[in-house]
Formats: sequence, structure tokens, C-alpha cells
Amino acid sequence: MKHREPQLPENVDALLVTRPENVRYLSGFTSPEDAILLFVPGRTRLFTDARYETQAPAESAVPVEIVNTRSGYGFLSEHLAGLRAGYEADHLPCARLRRIEKDTGVTFAPTSGVVERARTVKTPAELEHVTAAARLADEGFEHLLGLIEPGVREVDLALELEFWLRRHGAEKAAFDFIVASGPRGALPHGVASEKRIQAGELVTIDFGAVVGGYHSDMTRTVAVGVVSGEMRRIFQTVLDALEAALAAAAPGVLASELDAVARRVIEKAGYGRYFVHSLGHGVGLEIHEAPFLNSRSEERLEPGMVITLEPGIYLPDRGGVRIEELALVTDSGLELLSHSPRGWLEV
Ligand code: ZN
Ligand code: ZN
Repeated sequence: MKHREPQLPENVDALLVTRPENVRYLSGFTSPEDAILLFVPGRTRLFTDARYETQAPAESAVPVEIVNTRSGYGFLSEHLAGLRAGYEADHLPCARLRRIEKDTGVTFAPTSGVVERARTVKTPAELEHVTAAARLADEGFEHLLGLIEPGVREVDLALELEFWLRRHGAEKAAFDFIVASGPRGALPHGVASEKRIQAGELVTIDFGAVVGGYHSDMTRTVAVGVVSGEMRRIFQTVLDALEAALAAAAPGVLASELDAVARRVIEKAGYGRYFVHSLGHGVGLEIHEAPFLNSRSEERLEPGMVITLEPGIYLPDRGGVRIEELALVTDSGLELLSHSPRGWLEV
């Protein structure tokens, strides 16, 4: 097993793993889209096709079988004999499940979040990758600050940042970067557009790098020249909400309570209805993964979790602010993995 061993639910003793990030997590195989994994404690197997005859055994921490996937899933039958098998109901499409059941003659039980739960607590090897991705993002942001000025297009900033990150060791961008200036700042998910940045606007930049398959995620909002009035006020409110949540985060704290801590600050300032998303999420092989920090979450923080805290206020047609930190839950609280200055910054 590459990382932590998942805990199977009581009704199954084998799990067919199809979600690529879960396949990668359990095996270390870096082309998991072309593989499936059968997790059986002590006899886990990775199945992939002849294109990976050399790569898969070199990378995989579990035994590999090269199979002809075009001729169906009959190869699983011998490994499933006498076992109660489960499948990943949040990932495997119905049609593929039916095909697998037909080819193997086995009925699979639905499971949810089995490997995802193991993934919430990072191993030291995983933390090294996340930390490296976060460090790169900090350096990239410092480089980017020198390029933000009136007249520059959002897309050009996003592109420059991605080039910089890749040139300095990122495998790829963690997602389509958000660069949202002026009124576009009111779009929580405003992917960089051709809009030119103007003096007197706030610019929200949400981005990350991927290193060793692991993501980083950070948001900063900066002022282009002098910005005053309400935008400055909502910036301070978001910063206060973030800092309240950072101070409250510790092992054992409910994710929903942390969300509430930040939300209360924003509500008190009168902007509750403009904080339209949840406080944060786990980060790892996926950019958004468990634990999810929202009002309905039943999860508690545990040492080794890597989470974001990202309150925001979005005023339609006017603008918005989000500040996002990436942090590791430790035995006593939080250790920040993102280090760029988060306070008010005029460029
Ligand atoms: Zn983000
Ligand atoms: Zn995020």
C-alpha cells in the first residue's frame, strides 16, 4: 500500500476502486485513469493494460496485473471468489457497474468515501508534496505582484503565473486560475477574462500548483492603487473572519463550527448574505476533497489534515474579496502552508 490503508465498511471485504485519485493513492501509479484497483487487505491488485507494462510495476506499491480491458472485466472473477465486494458509488457510472457485474457474475454493494476518508489525513510523504506546491505558489505570487498594474488583462496575469509555476517545477496548474478584478470580483468563480485591470480596483487571485500529484490552493485580494470606501471595509471583514477561523481551528473542532465562526463575523458586519459558499475544503490529490468545511459537515478536524479557510464577500456588480489560506492541522492547532502576506496591499 502506498499510503494509509482504508477501513472497509462491515458489509464488504473487497473494494473495487475506480476513482483515479483513489487508485493513485493506494498504488502510487501515476496514470490511474487507465487502471482499476481491487483493494483486499493483504492481497490488493492493480489492473492496467499493456501500454503500462513497464511503467506500472515500476511505480506501483501493490502487485500489478496487465489485462486486456477491451475484452471486459472477467479477469476480476478469480480475485473476487468468496468475497463480498463493494464499488465506489460516488464515482462508478451505472453502465460500467452493470458491465462489470455481468462480466464477473458478482453483485457489488455501494460504498461511499472509503478511500477518501483515509486520504483526509496526510502522510509525511504527501505533506512534502503539498508543502512544495504551496511554497512554489508563494514564490509565484511574489513574482506576479510586480506585474499587476492598470491596463494589464486578467488572462495575461493568469498565464504569466502558470508559466512561472511550471518553469519553476510545478507539473501543472492546480485549476483554471481565478483573476477577477473590479466588478468581476463579485464572481466567486471568476476565471481570468480578457478584462483589463483598472486603477482603483481590487483584484482577487485564486491559484495553486501541482507537485507530485498534490495540489496547493491560495487566494489573495490586492488593491490596484488607492481603493477606499466599502471595498476596503469588506476586505477588513473578510480578513477578520479568516483570522477568527484560523484562531479557532484545532484538532477535535467540528468543521461546521469553524464555518460558523467565520460566518458569524461576516454576518455581524451585515454581509452574511454575500458569503455564498462554504468556508473551505481538504486539499491533496484533488483540489477539493474531504474534509469539507461547511454548515452541514459532520467531520472533525484531525492532525494531519490539510485544509483551506477561504471566507469571501461578493457584492453583485460592485466587487468582492476572498482571502484563502492553506493549512495543516497539527496536534495543537494549525500550521500555515501558505505564507504570502494576507493583509491590505496596494500595488
Ligand atoms: Zn482557491
Ligand atoms: Zn479553495
